[in-house]
Amino acid sequence: MPKPRILIVNCYSDNHRQARGNPRVVPQSIAPAVLAGMLDPARVDIRLACEFRDGPFEDLDALRWAELLVLTGLNPAFDRMKQVTAYARAVNPAIVVGMGGPLARMLPNLSQRYFDYVCSGDVEQIVAVVDAVFGCGHAADVPIPRHDLLPASRIIGYAEASRNCNFRCSFCSMTAEDRKFMAYDLNDVRRQIEALGYRQCVMFLDQNFFAGPRAYFTARMALLKELFEQRRFGGWAALVTADFFTNPDNLALARESGCIGFFSGVESFSHAQIQSYAKKQNLVLPQERTIRSCLEAGLVFHYGLIFDLVDQKIDDVLAETEFIVSNPRITLPSFLSFAIPLLGTPLFDRRLREGLLLPNLRLRDMDGRSLVCHPADPLETATAFARLMDSGLLSKRKLAAHAWRFFRHYRSTLTRWGLLSGLANAWAMSYPRLGSNGRDGIRPGRDGCRSYLAGCEPLGSLYRPRIRIPERYRDHFEPLYVTDGDGELHDDLIDDAASLLHPPGSEATGIPTYNAIAMP
Ligand code: SF4
Repeated sequence: MPKPRILIVNCYSDNHRQARGNPRVVPQSIAPAVLAGMLDPARVDIRLACEFRDGPFEDLDALRWAELLVLTGLNPAFDRMKQVTAYARAVNPAIVVGMGGPLARMLPNLSQRYFDYVCSGDVEQIVAVVDAVFGCGHAADVPIPRHDLLPASRIIGYAEASRNCNFRCSFCSMTAEDRKFMAYDLNDVRRQIEALGYRQCVMFLDQNFFAGPRAYFTARMALLKELFEQRRFGGWAALVTADFFTNPDNLALARESGCIGFFSGVESFSHAQIQSYAKKQNLVLPQERTIRSCLEAGLVFHYGLIFDLVDQKIDDVLAETEFIVSNPRITLPSFLSFAIPLLGTPLFDRRLREGLLLPNLRLRDMDGRSLVCHPADPLETATAFARLMDSGLLSKRKLAAHAWRFFRHYRSTLTRWGLLSGLANAWAMSYPRLGSNGRDGIRPGRDGCRSYLAGCEPLGSLYRPRIRIPERYRDHFEPLYVTDGDGELHDDLIDDAASLLHPPGSEATGIPTYNAIAMP
């Protein structure tokens, strides 16, 4: 009996409005592999694609082959999901299309205009969709991510030990979704690592690898120590929140179990700004002390900086980056971004009520590189700053000097991989567009130059169909508008206002919330 043919695509529109992939960027998405892993491999025929890694998905033969197309992706991917759906329906009118991810939860009503199945639940919901389309009995006995269907790497493998987050920062999509933190059974973590085969580094993609009771963290460290000593991997890394660093024993446990380092959301060195982000876990220790304690324990520390030009003056932001680049005892940031008022977050709600969202704001503009709100500084000054941020905010001479002094200070403390990844941030800061060859709209041309201003940014070539699209699907190539010409919520989103806005007084508290933990 023929197996159902399922194509899972991770949709993505590049921050730089490019139309190419990012195969060398770390981390990569494992969402397609996790979704595929929910299904019994003996009962389905599956293909995976990842636009983040490989660029726009244009394999029309695969779209003709599939009976069910499953689309996933983060907030900005909604337009891209519509576009891939239009291609699929143009070449294969019988195809069934399901979509999931944050915007299925934020825009359930709008999504139903474009997709046959809108999955607002967790990854397990893919089984219900497949069973609904093809009949019962497609669930995997023991779900395990299908890394075998993605291009292999001997260097980095990805795993997850939990899902969701126990904090509620005001700008984060986790807060918008408001789902409880849940840790995975340790046997599941073991299975994931063993299924990867040997990798130089296993990177945990959890939102907060440290969340949950202390006993669970200790048990997880013991498991990783055992696997590290068995040489199942060369080292591991994870994302943790700042509360992890308040107890030095945590760093010692991590180091003993083969940890190379951590990513943690520093976001800002300003106390006021951290409060504005409702990121109370970052107020316990000074940021600089947190970073130094991690590096001095022999573990590399990565972080990003988020600028909110509504609350922050550009001079203050520049003073912050100068402080960082003149301090070789801390790593440089891995990335810089503007705060994005993602749909459904408290920040979105606040900016909308304050009337600070720019008119004709499109989802496509919410890329962390474009101004989407009225800034505190004059608009021209702020757009010039955005342009500078996109081409390199910090002087290359200062970045090189920082890298050299950082190397001298930590060369005997950090592991080889830790040191290399720490130094790589000097490249990331020097060349923020590194690896994003083929961008649209940087130079004058068919798409125009980037304006860095929401509403008048060029959309890029993804919005031009590559093949003839039937008239009824042409609107799949229109961008999703978030605000109208007056800066109010756009009519298209009104039906989903209940998911997007927060009742007065329900601002994020930063108070941890936990779900039951599945202990081994
Ligand atoms: S700590 Fe804050 S920013 Fe990080 S995942 Fe949790 S809610 Fe989001």
